[in-house]
Amino acid sequence: MNAHAPSEFDLIVIGGGSGGLAGAFRAAGHGARVALLEPGLLGGTCVNVGCVPKKAMWLAADVAGRLRLAQTLGFPVTPAPLDWPEFIVHRERYIENIHASYRRRLDEAGIAVLPSYAHFVDAHTVECESGTRLRAPRILIATGGRPQRMAVPGAELGGVSDDFFQWRAAPERVAIVGAGYIAVELAGLLQGLGSRVDVFVRGDRLLRGFDHELTAQLAEEYRQQGIRLHFDHTVAAIERDGQGVRLRGFDGALSDRFDALLFATGRVPNSERLQLHNAGVATDVGGHVAVDERHATNVDGIFAVGDITPDPPLTPVAIAAARRLMDRLYGGATALLDRTGIPTVVFSHPPIGQVGLTEMEARQVHGDTAVHVYRAGFRPMLYALADVPQRSLFKLVCVGDDRRVVGIHLMGEAADEILQGFAVALKRGITLDDLRDTVAIHPTSAEEVVLMR
Ligand code: FAD
Ligand code: NDP
Repeated sequence: MNAHAPSEFDLIVIGGGSGGLAGAFRAAGHGARVALLEPGLLGGTCVNVGCVPKKAMWLAADVAGRLRLAQTLGFPVTPAPLDWPEFIVHRERYIENIHASYRRRLDEAGIAVLPSYAHFVDAHTVECESGTRLRAPRILIATGGRPQRMAVPGAELGGVSDDFFQWRAAPERVAIVGAGYIAVELAGLLQGLGSRVDVFVRGDRLLRGFDHELTAQLAEEYRQQGIRLHFDHTVAAIERDGQGVRLRGFDGALSDRFDALLFATGRVPNSERLQLHNAGVATDVGGHVAVDERHATNVDGIFAVGDITPDPPLTPVAIAAARRLMDRLYGGATALLDRTGIPTVVFSHPPIGQVGLTEMEARQVHGDTAVHVYRAGFRPMLYALADVPQRSLFKLVCVGDDRRVVGIHLMGEAADEILQGFAVALKRGITLDDLRDTVAIHPTSAEEVVLMR
């Protein structure tokens, strides 16, 4: 923005990640004059240190696995370690293309972009680091979150997911603390790319909140791949050992030595620097900006979307919330974000995805007698051909006499690509008979969903 640009806007968007950009573009498309404040790289977490570079590394590990399979199947290839710097050139070029596309679209949309942190002065005014002030009747908070380390002595010796994306080579031995999306994804891809990975889990399972049968099978699969899972392990301290580290457990035991340690122990919302108190915006105990079903805060004219809110921290959720909000504010629409039936995939090796209720949730909501569970366990054709033991497990959770499908849980090759279409079906309220009435596509893994008995 130049010195003569107006400081009055229809909408100020704080944060240029998934939610902020989607909101800014949609509002500008409806004719609003929009200012966007973003101190870092356009695209925020997802594009720069989240979904996109993560999926690139997942794909690299997937290719590495297929090279090993290819050799087994008779292709005269000799699998070799990934040349990380070379692969990262491709990864960064892909990301730079996204940045360039955002810059062009922001320019075309006439959105004023200020490369700065912002904080509230009052409910309609925000200030940049330079002291420049902007005013607008409406403000969207979309400042996302950041990874958190555990609060234990020596925690600074470990990194977080942001640090992982700076790596230029695979460490020989890696320790990961946590059992959520990021721990499971990084463990799978690092092992696939040649590291020896140990995962330290404070509970007794991976991916709390996902179907227990599927996560148990994923744990077994990870063990077969050589990943060492340490359940019921509470980290008390991190200790330096030469160039590496060791983890001390609460029982006093010291772990093996690792070349690198990553904490994947959750994320915290970026709310502190916003000085929300100047505008009177309320947060919850975790620091998330509290919003109602319209994504409105307690202060008139101030809204929030994405990871800064208690919504599920997923990119498509932030984008959908922002677009619906702007359609209501500037486009005369009334639709709200439907927070039910949000599909999600963990990019483990193999991936695991779910939409709707888990079996346990369905039993709690509908009662044991109303719940009917259908399973398909099988070996995908490629793995059977190569005589590799990797198996898939698909599960349907149905309720009532008409067997309405309330949960779909898939673990296995291509689960990430299969789930989306079935998520549409679940939202449309399909029954088991609707699935069975659909002719299968053969031979695929997806056909197992319509063939379950
Ligand atoms: P962000 O994308 O975090 O953007 C917030 C922006 O606000 C940032 O650019 C930040 O610089 C800026 N900001 C912060 N404070 C201020 C301030 N005071 N003033 C101005 N700007 C500010 N989701 C998926 O759906 N699929 C995936 O595969 C997936 N993989 C992930 C992998 C990893 C390793 C991580 C960490 C996350 C992943 N996610 C994934 C989650 C996804 O990245 C987030 O849900 C999404 O980025 C949230 O978007 P957002 O707009 O709310 O916040
Ligand atoms: P998650 O909330 O998924 O997992 C955090 C993990 O850390 C849990 O296993 C949790 O254990 C554990 N943990 C928390 N505190 C401690 C502690 N003090 N000691 C030991 N373990 C601890 O967070 P992530 O950081 O993995 O990911 C953040 C969010 O980003 C995800 O919830 C997801 O929505 C999004 N994301 C989405 C992806 C995708 O769509 N594919 C990929 C990556 C991230 P416990 O279960 O016991 O609480």
